Amino acid sequence: MVSWKGGFGVSAAEEIKRGKGTVFLRPEICKGCSFCIDFCPTHCLEFSRDFNKKGYHYPVLLRPEDCTGCDLCGLYCPDFAIFGVRYKDLEKRRQALLAAGFEDVQQG
Ligand code: SF4
Ligand code: SF4
Repeated sequence: MVSWKGGFGVSAAEEIKRGKGTVFLRPEICKGCSFCIDFCPTHCLEFSRDFNKKGYHYPVLLRPEDCTGCDLCGLYCPDFAIFGVRYKDLEKRRQALLAAGFEDVQQG
């Protein structure tokens, strides 16, 4: 069965597996303050093991199936280093986010 709830025709099983949203990240801007991790209502972010060029751990989407794309992480980030997007809005936001230097964490 195909669900159109996510905006581009994924199955209900896929939608549950990957969650309702995702995050875009600018890891080199992150200063590791942990606001995004602490305030995420579904606790799907954790710090990376790697460091960015400034020497900080940055957030990674460890449990993508729990992300709703609510963007509370982005609202709390003092440096605009993370941005949450609901899948239903993903296609209209993706190009602007990539142009602004954000990385799609699900594309590596
Ligand atoms: S978009 Fe919402 S659910 Fe997803 S990581 Fe950010 S705060 Fe958490
Ligand atoms: S809130 Fe922003 S600066 Fe702080 S850890 Fe998260 S992404 Fe990095």
